Amino acid sequence: MVKTDNFQRPVLSLRISITNRCNINCFYCHHDGIIPQEYEMTPKEIERIAQVAKNIGIRKIRLSGGEPLIRDDIIDIVTRISSLKFKDIGLTTNGTLLEKYAQSLKDAGLNRVNVSFDTLNPETYRFITKSSYVDQVKKGIKKAAEVGLYPVKINMVVMRDLNHQEIWDMFKFCKENGAILQLIELLKAESCPDTDFFDDYHYDISIIEEKLKVKADEIKTRYFMQDRKKYFLERGEIEIVRPMDNTEFCKNCTRLRITPDGKLKPCLLRNDNLVDLMEPLRLEYSDKELEKLFLESISNREPYYNQCGL
Ligand code: SAM
Repeated sequence: MVKTDNFQRPVLSLRISITNRCNINCFYCHHDGIIPQEYEMTPKEIERIAQVAKNIGIRKIRLSGGEPLIRDDIIDIVTRISSLKFKDIGLTTNGTLLEKYAQSLKDAGLNRVNVSFDTLNPETYRFITKSSYVDQVKKGIKKAAEVGLYPVKINMVVMRDLNHQEIWDMFKFCKENGAILQLIELLKAESCPDTDFFDDYHYDISIIEEKLKVKADEIKTRYFMQDRKKYFLERGEIEIVRPMDNTEFCKNCTRLRITPDGKLKPCLLRNDNLVDLMEPLRLEYSDKELEKLFLESISNREPYYNQCGL
């Protein structure tokens, strides 16, 4: 049965960060709010945590990082999670290794994939990521759609005068390749040594949203996903991901997180209430005892931005 926290928020999904390592270096990256650690959970430990999550009613798993596809045991990890029969297993990737892994990921039981891809322009890509994988990422996206991962979503962080002019080209690319475009508003990243980028590149995504409202044939709201809006137009789809540092984001948060070193993280924006699961696993806690740790963590969940008195 689905568990609900003290603010009537159901806990529906678990985002497991399986590594802090990444093979590109986006200048704006917030590293999913995770402080770097040396230890990485083994596939067996990840499977056990997923099993306990399933026992307490979590229905969906998303694998993230760092870059999840740089783990050479990624297929083993997905296979183990898939054997637990979740409603949905997704993965967020920078796409650089997706062409290589798409078929095996699909065969292992992965359902969907989000590919972070901000630009089609090789120079802009190099500026953002300090790498030159743009063609590999395009091939990865095509391959993911071909092998039947569904949906394939493209996460495009929109940045002023860097890629905001490219939105319609990216939309066209997505439509041609069977993908859905998600436009993400740039967030100030506290974990980033240089936060000046925010003032330089922040672009208010509501400008685009206003245009979409006029152009769209249909608009839908995703209630369990921070009330995100989906705009259907020109036989394609654009989703808008609003900034996370606000009361609305917290009000609609249905997600728990696990850090790569095996700590439960009840809030994206906090690191002072983590609950270690590795020591209990090594001490051979029973499923019931591990479930208790999850439930305690859920009962301590509170909205980070709570100004409207949720
Ligand atoms: N390596 C994987 C990837 O590239 O998708 C997963 C990790 S990455 C941190 C997850 C997502 O966070 C990406 O879609 C990325 O664009 C987004 N992201 C990172 N820093 C951000 C920021 N400052 N503002 C908005 N989105 C950000």
